[in-house]
Amino acid sequence: MSELNLVLLGPPGSGKGTQGERLQEELQLPYYATGDILRAAVREGTELGRAAKGYMDRGDLVPDEVIVGMIGERIDSAEAVDGFILDGFPRTVPQADALAAKLTELGRELTAVLLIDVSDEEVVRRLGGRRTCLENGHVFHLEFNPPQQEGVCDLDGSELVVRDDDKPDVIRHRLEQYEEKTSPLIAYYDGQSLLRQIEGSASAEAVADEIRRTLATLRLEADEAI
Ligand SMILES: [Zn+2]
Repeated sequence: MSELNLVLLGPPGSGKGTQGERLQEELQLPYYATGDILRAAVREGTELGRAAKGYMDRGDLVPDEVIVGMIGERIDSAEAVDGFILDGFPRTVPQADALAAKLTELGRELTAVLLIDVSDEEVVRRLGGRRTCLENGHVFHLEFNPPQQEGVCDLDGSELVVRDDDKPDVIRHRLEQYEEKTSPLIAYYDGQSLLRQIEGSASAEAVADEIRRTLATLRLEADEAI
């Protein structure tokens, strides 16, 4: 297999970011978390970054074409010749169509879409238990990584709070958004035989192992196809 062009899908709290960073390290491929790309382009003042900033300053959503343009620039760069890992994009079926068109234009295609599958209950348990230190953003978890003293950061003694993103109403809203906008992508990519489901409720280590096995299988399939 000459290229490994991957998309990570999964609800908030699925551990996608952790797995993405791990894959970046193991596969030596660039990891593109869309939010970070957008912020970097705006900061660097690239042409597309300036376009995006215009929308953001007006309080509008950045259109798909602008985001696809930015991602296209990264995918078409020297660092991504052997492949890439996308996280946070596409989030909707129109975005997936736009990505497919861009890849076709570049003479490339996706290798696989890894869905890190986690139940709503598990998401609520993971995100709802998070406590963040007010001063320095250190993160604890009531169940998995509790602070020594309730409500106090072990590292700097500052107050631990529930971030807005981790409040029950917000978690529910994020899950609804995911269900409504992003979960249709599961059927979309399954229909293209690109979807690979990963059981995401296991430990981060076990999830990483399953991803490794899945990628090894993909390589075998690609070799047999030649
Ligand atoms: Zn702290």
